[in-house]
Amino acid sequence: MRYAESVLDTIGNTPLVKLSRVTEGIAATVLAKVEFFNPGGSVKDRIAAAMIDAAEKSGELKPGGTIVEPTSGNTGVGLALVAQQRGYRCIFVCPDKVAEDKRATLRAYGAEVVVTPTAVPADSPDSYYGVSDRIVAETPGAYKPNQFFNQNGPGAHYASTGPEIWRDTEGAVTHFVAGIGTGGTISGTSRFLKEASDGNVRVIGADPVGSVYSGGTGRPYLVEGVGEDMWPGAYNPGLVDEVIAVDDAESFAMTRRLAREEGLLVGGSSGMAVAAALRAGKDLPADAVVVVLLPDSGRGYLQKVYSDAWMRSLGFAGPDGDTTVREVLA
Ligand code: PMP
Repeated sequence: MRYAESVLDTIGNTPLVKLSRVTEGIAATVLAKVEFFNPGGSVKDRIAAAMIDAAEKSGELKPGGTIVEPTSGNTGVGLALVAQQRGYRCIFVCPDKVAEDKRATLRAYGAEVVVTPTAVPADSPDSYYGVSDRIVAETPGAYKPNQFFNQNGPGAHYASTGPEIWRDTEGAVTHFVAGIGTGGTISGTSRFLKEASDGNVRVIGADPVGSVYSGGTGRPYLVEGVGEDMWPGAYNPGLVDEVIAVDDAESFAMTRRLAREEGLLVGGSSGMAVAAALRAGKDLPADAVVVVLLPDSGRGYLQKVYSDAWMRSLGFAGPDGDTTVREVLA
């Protein structure tokens, strides 16, 4: 019989899928690493298991303990999966811009969700960082994985995402493109790919216009899970060769194209990453192999990027592909 001992054993080994329609006019091969194949539906399952394993080993998390984390949803799902298997309580804190569908998903796994305002500074007591710190202080046996600074995040990508890409491209990968949220995905994967290729893989970050990684001030944008208004310790800018800024309009337009033209129903940060990959790949030769990581599924965004009414209400492209855009968050 061939079966997984637990759902946790199905994390990772996600497929590379060639993009063939949105890449029109590009000579290079562009391969999407599709992370919605993970059991929790996102790339974040990888780091959840790694962070909890490490906390159990170090004694920071004890039997019957409570996991508290500020998360935009995906890390919460991963942590909830692991917690459920091992008997921990979970409390997640997320900003109000996070889709209600995503919060409902966390609750479905048995987790508790606290919602905080998006438009407050990171150092405010009302920010999602501030509120999660308060809950940790007030909850006995609480452990905060702190994905923004936990080195087991990039460590998980060094141990799995990087090796999978190297193995599946048989070492032919020349470029790696990923969005930057905590920076764990790009930093850990980059470290592995640069070591394996003797520094020959070029690593490109994708970032929402307004975020600090591409020189912004942290002003709001609508794409979820990527960009920052501070510099997290999980991000190592020394491992990233270039950062490309993509605005919400282009990210969302590409997200919808991925569903309609490639059959990949993915979230907005995937559209952002592909938009950056296409910009990076525009003038590359035919033997270049660009791997772009698509972090999550579009199922959590049906009332947002996939809703024509929502898109129009914000001045974004309609269903006819009209790309007229006004500045919504100036
Ligand atoms: N996209 C989505 C939807 C995410 O939830 C995240 C994680 N915050 C990312 C991209 C970025 O990944 P990382 O935190 O590893 O930089």
